[in-house]
Amino acid sequence: MDYQVLIGLEMHCEISETNTKVFSSARNSFSEANTNVRPVDMAFPGTLPVVNKEAVRKALMASLILNCKQPEYVYFERKNYYYPDLPKGFQITQETKPIPIGIYGHLDYECNGEMKKIRINNLHLEEDAASSDHLPGGSLIDYNRAGVPLLELVTEPDLHSADEAVAFLETMRSIYQYAGISEADSKKGQIRCDVNVSIMDKDKDASDPSNWGTKIEIKNVNSFGGVRDAINYEIKRQIELKEDGKYNEMPQQTRRWDEESGTTKFMRGKVDAIDYKYFVEPNIPKFKIAEKWLEEIKNDIPTLAHERKEEYIENYGISNYDATILVKEKDISDFFEETIKLGSEAKSASNWVTSNLLGYLNKQEVSLNDTKITPENLAMLIKMVEDKEISSQQAKGVFIESVETGKSPKDIAKEKGLKQITDSGEITKIVNEVLDENPDIITQYKNGKVAMLNYLVGQVMKKTAGKANPTLARDTMQVEIDKR
Ligand code: ADP
Ligand code: MG
Repeated sequence: MDYQVLIGLEMHCEISETNTKVFSSARNSFSEANTNVRPVDMAFPGTLPVVNKEAVRKALMASLILNCKQPEYVYFERKNYYYPDLPKGFQITQETKPIPIGIYGHLDYECNGEMKKIRINNLHLEEDAASSDHLPGGSLIDYNRAGVPLLELVTEPDLHSADEAVAFLETMRSIYQYAGISEADSKKGQIRCDVNVSIMDKDKDASDPSNWGTKIEIKNVNSFGGVRDAINYEIKRQIELKEDGKYNEMPQQTRRWDEESGTTKFMRGKVDAIDYKYFVEPNIPKFKIAEKWLEEIKNDIPTLAHERKEEYIENYGISNYDATILVKEKDISDFFEETIKLGSEAKSASNWVTSNLLGYLNKQEVSLNDTKITPENLAMLIKMVEDKEISSQQAKGVFIESVETGKSPKDIAKEKGLKQITDSGEITKIVNEVLDENPDIITQYKNGKVAMLNYLVGQVMKKTAGKANPTLARDTMQVEIDKR
């Protein structure tokens, strides 16, 4: 039997780019445990929340980017439950009012080279809870996270594979980063997802909800790799239940992703669903979103990744493949643009960034921030190669050293005594030495093995420790071998 898979995501992303928290004046930054805490975050009696306008602005920007409808009035509501990381006994969120910060949007995203569309059910602004650290002797709570602005995005079940889910999440991360809403760094716990998965018969119509299979929710998956693995595991598990004839007995349920075993585990069934007794937060009066403000926010949306990508292809003649790589991370795209602003030719800058810089970052498993390379130094290096001060072979070594030490390529080349041999007399001399040492190769070349020319040029490069200008070496080799 063939199945189709339906996946809907609830993606939580902390808004990291505000100075302070969503309802308090504590700093919104990553720092030592329990240092970013104000009385309101600890739920001291008599303290009152004050809405952070910048958090609302950023949330509205996300809502506009996702083509959602925005509310005329913003309401916040209480979601009541007790947990040690929630000292107030409730979370301030948006849930039951018809329009939270955004509703009924959609987004186009690319998955394996194909454009896809996903409907957004809603986007809402809420506060994060504190974080707890469970140790063998007890649990520790860090209130830094309490009250950090959090955006929760709920999609319709329009995703049909783990690949699509991850491609969508990567697009969202990119949007949050480019729009200056969040660093969206899952290593810092800024992104967390609940993943809903069901399967249904392939030949049934997925646009009719009555055909949908039983929704299984997997809570708190904290990395994109985890989302991929959890979905694939869950699809397999559900198909097995179906084939064993046990699918119809499977209740709607919430499971959790267990990273260690690579499996999902039962948490609770629908009958244990919690009633959160929502009501409007009485300490935050509803407020109106002015049309004019919304218009300003719309105009402030920065150039996003897919727009930068189009610019790179159209203005710089960069391939679709390279442009995709360049815009994947905002810091890399910014670095590339800076390098061009400093006068480098776009294609050289693109080659250096996509092969050498990203090659280095991937190999060392570090991010751009962890290195010492600057756009100034890359631009200088590109110029040195263009001016034939050093060979492109030498430049690769200089680049790595500059990435690791932050030294300027000029200084590195000077220290290493690197200089390209561009003197044709000197190159002719070395070419003839190589030819004298390799009579057999000359014979092979004359007998039609033209590829031997590469070998001979290689010998010239070796003899000069990579200093010979490669084009000059090749041209001279051609001339000299023909004379023999
Ligand atoms: P609940 O009322 O349990 O919160 P919702 O209808 O609000 O459920 O949906 C929560 C999430 O589950 C959404 O992302 C939605 O797209 C997804 N979802 C709903 N039904 C299914 C299903 N049958 N299969 C997969 N995902 C689903
Ligand atoms: Mg719901």
